[in-house]
Amino acid sequence: MSPNNKTARIVFVNQKDCTGCESCVAMTPDVFRMTSDGLAEVHNPQGDSEEKIQEAMDGCPASCINWKP
Ligand code: SF4
Repeated sequence: MSPNNKTARIVFVNQKDCTGCESCVAMTPDVFRMTSDGLAEVHNPQGDSEEKIQEAMDGCPASCINWKP
């Protein structure tokens, strides 16, 4: 674990399933943002701790936020 608790894992949004609810952006705006198409995307995979990103992932109603294998 790095001292600043940033995540080593890389998160991505499967936009095919994104409903555009903006929950992930509200929870972790330093990682996710909305595109002009109204879908979420990752703009900084290192923008927050793994814990916070996991919370956003768990809160996604479409289950379309995942860790890259
Ligand atoms: S929480 Fe999930 S469904 Fe909602 S905007 Fe983010 S990726 Fe899309």
